[in-house]
This record gives sequence, structure tokens and C-alpha cells, in this order.
Amino acid sequence: MTRPAPKSFHVKSFGCQMNVYDGERMAELLGAQGMAAASEADAELVILNTCHIREKAAEKVYSDIGRQRREDGTRPMIAVAGCVAQAEGTEVTARTKDVDIVVGPQAYHELPQMIARAAKGERVHDLDLPGLDKFSKLPARRKTGPTAFLTVQEGCDKFCTYCVVPYTRGGEISRSYAAIVDEAKSLVDAGAKEITLLGQNVNAWEEDGKGLEHLIRALDAISGLQRIRYTTSHPNDMTDGLIRAHADVEKLMPFLHLPVQSGNDRVLKAMNRKHTADSYLKIIDRVRAARPDIALSGDFIVGFPGETEAEFEDTLRLIEAANYAMAFSFKYSPRPGTPAATMDAQIAPEVMDDRLQRLQGLLNTQQLAFNQASLGKRIQVLLERKGKLDGQKIGKSPWLQSVHIIADAQIGDMVEVDLVSAGPNSLAGTLVSKDVNAA
Ligand code: SF4
Repeated sequence: MTRPAPKSFHVKSFGCQMNVYDGERMAELLGAQGMAAASEADAELVILNTCHIREKAAEKVYSDIGRQRREDGTRPMIAVAGCVAQAEGTEVTARTKDVDIVVGPQAYHELPQMIARAAKGERVHDLDLPGLDKFSKLPARRKTGPTAFLTVQEGCDKFCTYCVVPYTRGGEISRSYAAIVDEAKSLVDAGAKEITLLGQNVNAWEEDGKGLEHLIRALDAISGLQRIRYTTSHPNDMTDGLIRAHADVEKLMPFLHLPVQSGNDRVLKAMNRKHTADSYLKIIDRVRAARPDIALSGDFIVGFPGETEAEFEDTLRLIEAANYAMAFSFKYSPRPGTPAATMDAQIAPEVMDDRLQRLQGLLNTQQLAFNQASLGKRIQVLLERKGKLDGQKIGKSPWLQSVHIIADAQIGDMVEVDLVSAGPNSLAGTLVSKDVNAA
């Protein structure tokens, strides 16, 4: 079916921060083509930027495609992007006739010509994994609020047995130091005060034998940039240099997201995590020695095939030993094409529910205790958005805690506040001074 080339677009991103970053780059690319951003209900092109990490996430795409049909029976041009596009490819267009474009996470820089072909009635697929091409073909960064994401590394070579990422994002590739520093400078020029460096294995970033700390120190020198963060890391890529950066790079925030998934070595082996519970805890000790007030975050999977009650309790003991400020936890979800999906001894859903509840109970207790320990402190908060209440502003502490204040301060201000109350997911503060780092 031919149709007029769309003049407006809407990007709907699901899943991880890297998908959010890709969604922002797609919007900038189409904006640079003269297309206008519009709401999902009004856009002439809707891009579903998908996540494939769990069963439910993948299925969500097809119900979203169905919802694009409008009251007058028409529908916008529909593109499926992201990890479901990469994993399912032509299956997407085989399964529904309502999709015009299927584009993988490494090929979205080709969107303008794909849209032109789809307007002529073609159903277009591009699932190439051409490495870093896309970055050189994307327009300069335009949009930013006080915080911004910056992808520095893509793909993964670890092949954890439950994970689709190596198949949907390809092998580990590092963007060049020069391109990253340029993009960081353009983000700061566009108003960013905090940059989060992103990668499926961000601490695997490497250039000429130099690691992520090399990049962090380069960003530290950019005037106007006030905060640096990075995510997601693998324990085996936590180098001495990166740990040292936590000790002496002032703009590097005291927060580390370091997934571990399980506290039992047999399960970690079956997951192909290539580390043990003990080696993980030793890394935590070294990081805490470098930065004693660091906030630790983790990822956990309960109910991995074959996990016994005793092995699950090892995970609870690791959590007690590590003491998290926050963490993400999920029930194991078999992903097509991953080794674990065909493993024996898949765990019953009710057992997974019970284990997840107990694990989250412990994590919530730790998170509340971390927030309560911050009470009475005077800290800096970067205001990111408005809250629901009159005059309410919400921002993040250096430890990535959500802090809300009622004050006449602006989004983007780095303010100083006294923390006066603490809950499991956020803290409340009273304003002490506005825009403390304004040059
Ligand atoms: S390290 Fe992370 S992204 Fe890579 S395979 Fe394992 S879970 Fe997936």
C-alpha cells in the first residue's frame, strides 16, 4: 500500500537506557530530516523501539501494534525497532501485516531511506550489525535536559546463558575516544550537567589498551559538566584504574550498578557469569575501600533452571554481605535461542514468585535503611523535573536517590538541600541554596 511520506513521527521506547538513548537519536535523525515530533495518537509514523529481555516485553510489541489502528480504520506507518526487531526480523512482518519497517539497533541511521521505500508500499527490513557506522551517520546532539545518556560501547561477548543481548546487539564494540568526547561536549553545550555513559558492558570500553577510566577523566575536564555516571558494568571488567577513578575523580558520582544475578557458584557457572560470589564480594570491598560512601546497586534473577532452595539462600546471604542501596530483581524468563531456555529443571512459577518476594523483601529493607542513613545530611541535588505538588521539584542525589523539594528553583539547577524525611523510594529535602555550582 503506497502512502504519502510521513511528516510527523513518534518514538516509543521500551526497556533499558540504551534503548532510550537510541530512541532519542532516532528522534534527532528524523527531526533533522524536517519531520515533526507528534503524539502517538497523531503521528504519521510510529516507531516501537522494543525490548527483548523478557517474554512479556516481547509480546507487548504485538499488542501495541494492534493499538495503532485509528477510529477511522486507518493506521500510521509503523516501524518496529530495537531488540525484538533484531531477534525476530521477518517473523514480525510474517506475524502481522500492520508493520512497514523492521530495523535493528545497529541500523536505524538508515531510517530516512527506509521510510521513503515504505511510502512506496515496500515492507522494509534492515537487521545489519555494521558496527559503529550508525554514529557517524547521525546528526549532532540537539536535545537535552539537565541529564543525558551517551552510548560509548555496544554489544556483549559474555554470552550469559539466559541473555539475548549478544544475539540482538552483536559483539562488544567501543566507540572512539574522540567521538565520545565530542558528543559529551555537544551535550554540555546543549545544557547537560550530568552525563551517564552507557553500554551493555560499559566497563569493557577500550581504546589502545586504555579503559573506561580514561574516558571518565576526559569528561572530568569538560567545564560545565558537573556529574558523571556509567552503566551497566560486568564484575570481570572492574579494573584497578576504574576503581581508582572512584577515589579521585570528583565529578564521578558515588554510585555503582554491578549486576551479579545469583549468590551461588554452581548457578553462576550454569549462567556462564565467569565469576564467583566470592570474587564479586572482593570487588565490592575494593570499590568501598576506594569510595567508602559509594551506593551499590545490583541485578538478580530468581528461579534460574535447577536453582535449589539452598542455592537461593546463598543469594540472600550475598545480598546481606553486599548491602545494596537499590537493586533490580526478576523471575527467570526463558528466551528463545538462549542455552538456558532448554535446560532441565525449569523452576515452577509459584516457587519463583515466593523466591522473588523474599528477595525483594530483603532488598527493600536495605534500600530503606540506606535512605534513612542519609537523613540530616546536607547534599547537592540536580533538579530534573517537576513533581505533582505545587512548586515541587524532583532530582537525584549523588547516590542516585530520588529527592523532592518544594521550592522556587529551576529544572537544571544544582541545589543544596537538607534531607528531612526518608521513604523506601525517595527522600524529601528543604532548600538551603540554589544553583550552587553556577559558574
Ligand atoms: S554480561 Fe549482561 S548483556 Fe552480556 S550476556 Fe551477560 S547479562 Fe547479557
